[in-house]
Order: sequence, then structure tokens, then C-alpha cells
Amino acid sequence: LGKEGLVIVGGVAAGLAAAMEARRASPEMPIKVFERTGDISYGACGLPYVVAGLIPSLESLILHTPEYFREQHGIEVRTGCEALELLPSKSVVRVRMHVEKREVGYDALILATGAAALCPPLPGHELEGVFVLRHMRDGRRLLRFIEETRPRTCAVVGAGYIGLEMAEAFRARGLRATLVESSETVMSALGGRARDIVAEEMRAHGVEVIFGERVVGFESNAAGRVARVLTGSGRAFEADLVSIGVGVRPEVALARDAGLEIGESGAILTDERQRTSAPGVYAAGDCCEVLHRVSGRRVWHPLGQPAVRQGWVAGANAASSDVSVEARYAGVVGTTVVKVFGLEAARTGLSLEEARSAGFDAAEVESESASRAGYYPGASKIYTRLVTDRTGRLLGAQMVGREGVAQRVDVYAAALHAGMKVEELERLDLAYAPPFAPTIDPIIRAAHAAMKKS
Ligand SMILES: Cc1cc2nc3c(=O)[nH]c(=O)nc-3n(C[C@H](O)[C@H](O)[C@H](O)COP(=O)(O)OP(=O)(O)OC[C@H]3O[C@@H](n4cnc5c(N)ncnc54)[C@H](O)[C@@H]3O)c2cc1C
Repeated sequence: LGKEGLVIVGGVAAGLAAAMEARRASPEMPIKVFERTGDISYGACGLPYVVAGLIPSLESLILHTPEYFREQHGIEVRTGCEALELLPSKSVVRVRMHVEKREVGYDALILATGAAALCPPLPGHELEGVFVLRHMRDGRRLLRFIEETRPRTCAVVGAGYIGLEMAEAFRARGLRATLVESSETVMSALGGRARDIVAEEMRAHGVEVIFGERVVGFESNAAGRVARVLTGSGRAFEADLVSIGVGVRPEVALARDAGLEIGESGAILTDERQRTSAPGVYAAGDCCEVLHRVSGRRVWHPLGQPAVRQGWVAGANAASSDVSVEARYAGVVGTTVVKVFGLEAARTGLSLEEARSAGFDAAEVESESASRAGYYPGASKIYTRLVTDRTGRLLGAQMVGREGVAQRVDVYAAALHAGMKVEELERLDLAYAPPFAPTIDPIIRAAHAAMKKS
């Protein structure tokens, strides 16, 4: 690259992964990272555990400071610096650094602008005590509110993985918690028995769980703080604090205004080298879409690990004019795992509904198996649901259990990545010893059940 070097917009997972990879590829190139908030390089995934009190402070989530990047890697990271406009035809980005506006040239640019939490504009959503959780500053506001007002009751809106984690966090703080979800599922695709197991666990830990009901507004108390949540069926319940976890949207304003192509999912369209439709402009992380290897569609899959890996790919390609650089992002299979009190709930690939809407002639089969040898103390049940097509190709897996789920789901993720059939899964030589698995591992048992059905 030339003397302008690489400019990166966004200083969290994807942006800083890209900066470090670009530095590895090019030891001398100027690299600038612009971040509009005051926070960089932190693990947003840890926020619920700070709220729970398990992790002592928000500062524990910070990996590195701007000084670290400057002194150790010669990367200039500017906080409080917002990219306002991107002009790809001039290779310039207009930025505001605190109050001053200026134009910054670049040889290559990476958009790592992430996503923003959705807050539906319901009556009362702007009341004090109603929160979304996405960035460090959200965590700071929420913790300050808890310190200052000592809430006794809370409502969590949305049973996505963040909603589940937040309900648990509030219970750990001693709040009475109600979780309201408008659909009949948790984590957007866990339905039926898997959903029931998760809901039973939450209820056993004191969370009131309401499915199929929509929150329609919030009411305040005399102090102007949120006090009640209203639902579509006319129900009203008390909540001194509300945490909204109904999803996120990609931050694409810069890209869209600059004329970059936006995909059907609403996120920035990139190729496997993370190149956007504008020459010299790359995108990585929660702001862009990815290839779903099972459906073959380009989807939006905003999660931490894909964000870092897309950052590596964008950084390597942006730093090198050598077209033989083989940095490519292989795509996702849609793997997620969440801890819900004493449970591990995970999914990978497509649910039955998703598989059918992607055009597969799909079926599903459920099975239950022990987590350890029957005679070994402490065994519990692992519930599995496999989705396959008529040829026996694995399309998706969902698992819930008290142990052995978070790692096992990765076997399914690897199988999906490789396009394996259930009969191939059933032949795998998996680890066995009584404390860790029954002689026939739950994965083999589930594959066996799916083979018999197909
Ligand atoms: C509570 C919570 C729990 C999570 N748990 C998990 C988990 O368990 N597993 C998992 O895989 N993922 C999890 N995630 C998701 C994960 O944190 C995100 O996928 C990841 O942070 C995405 O990184 P990113 O760099 O693409 O985007 P972001 O983290 O959103 O960072 C983008 C940055 O760009 C900045 N920016 C945007 N526009 C501009 C601009 N114009 N100028 C300057 N700066 C700009 C933003 O301020 C932001 O700091 C969780 C997220 C949250 C909030």
C-alpha cells in the first residue's frame, strides 16, 4: 500500500482483528483505527456476566488499550472519532475527531462498524430504566442504574441468547425476573421439547417465562422511571428495570450512503475476501453478511467468532496488493451456544423450518441419551434434534443438556462444514470414558436414530 495506508472504522472485534492481521502482513504500513465511542478492544460477550456480578468490573472485559496498539504494534487507534462519510471515488473518509472535522485519505479501508441493538419505539421506551445492551457504555449505564436505584423487579423482553443470559444475570443480582417472548421459541429456533427444557430450567430458578405475548408499552412511576410493562393481551406487570433483547441491526449507514452494495439481509455485501463492491473497501464483522454453507445463501450472522475471523481475512487482503494472497472466509454454519443456569443449549445449521424455507425436503428426528455411562455418578440427559434431507445429509442440530453439549455441538458444526451425511457421522470414532460419555456417544445415537428414519 502507499503512504496513506490502511484506515479501519470500528475498534472492537472485527476492526482490531483486521488491524493486527494487516500489521502482520505489512510491518511498515500506516494503520489508523477510528472508533466513535470511548471504548475499544473489549469482549461484549462478557457484559451479562458483569451484570450478574460474576466478573467484578467492566474493565475486566478490556483486552488492550490504544497505547498498547500504538507502542507495541505502531497502530494508531483514535477513540471519540466518528467516520461521517465515505467517498470511495476519492479514497477519502470524512471524520469528526471530538469537535474537529477533517478528511483522511486511504489506500485501503475496512468497515468494521458492527451492529446496533434494536429498541422498538413502543410507548415509554425512552423511560429511565429501559435498557438495551450492546456496547460498553450500555453496560456502564445499566450498572449505574442498578447501583443508584436498587431495582427489585425486572422484565427481559426477548428470549434470544442475550435475553436468556440477562434473565439469569438479574436473578443472580436477586431481582424478580419476568421474561416475555412474542414467539413460541427461544434463541429464535429452539422450539418444542428443547424450548420446554430451557423454560423449565428458567422457571426452576425463579424466572417467570411468558411465550406468545408481545410487549406493547411501558409505564412510569411518580419519579418518571419505568415501573410497569404492558403486553398485547392486556396484562401488566411490575418492573423497576427493563432489558430489551429483541435483536440487532447492521450498522450500514456509511456503506449505504457511499453507494456500496447492500445484500438482501440488509448487511454489507462482501465476497469471500471480504471485498465490498467499491475498490479498495473491505468490510468485516457484524456489519456484513456471510455465506451460510448449509443453505448456500448469504445471510446475516452477527457473532463474535465470525467477526474476528472476517477481520483477519479483511486485514490480510487489505494490507497486500498481492492478488495471490489466499485469505478467504469460508462462511458459517450458524453455530450458537448459551448457558441457561445449569443448562447448555446449542444449535448449529438449519432448523426444520429454515431448511424447508431454503428448499430442502427436510425431516427431523429427536433422541435422548445420557451424558455419562449409566453407572457413573452424575449422569444427566442430553436431548438432541437432528435435521436431515432425504439423502441423509445433515442440515442442522439442536442440543440441550446439563453437560457435554457446548463441545459436542462442535462435532455437528464440523460435520455441517464438511457436508457429511448422518451415516458418516455414525461411523465417527469419538472419545469415550465413563465420566464423559456413555459407550455409544449421544452424537452416534442421534445419527443412528436419524439413519433409521431416513
Ligand atoms: C451482551 C452480548 C453478548 C454477546 N455474546 C456473544 C457470545 O456469547 N458469542 C458470540 O459469538 N457473540 C456474542 N456477542 C456478539 C459479539 O459481541 C459481536 O458479534 C461482536 O462484538 C461483533 O464485533 P464487530 O467488531 O463486528 O462489531 P461491534 O462490536 O459492534 O463493534 C463495532 C464498533 O464500530 C464502531 N462504529 C460504528 N460506526 C462507526 C463510525 N461511523 N465511526 C467510528 N466508529 C464506528 C462502534 O461504535 C463499535 O464500537 C454478544 C454481544 C452482546 C452485546
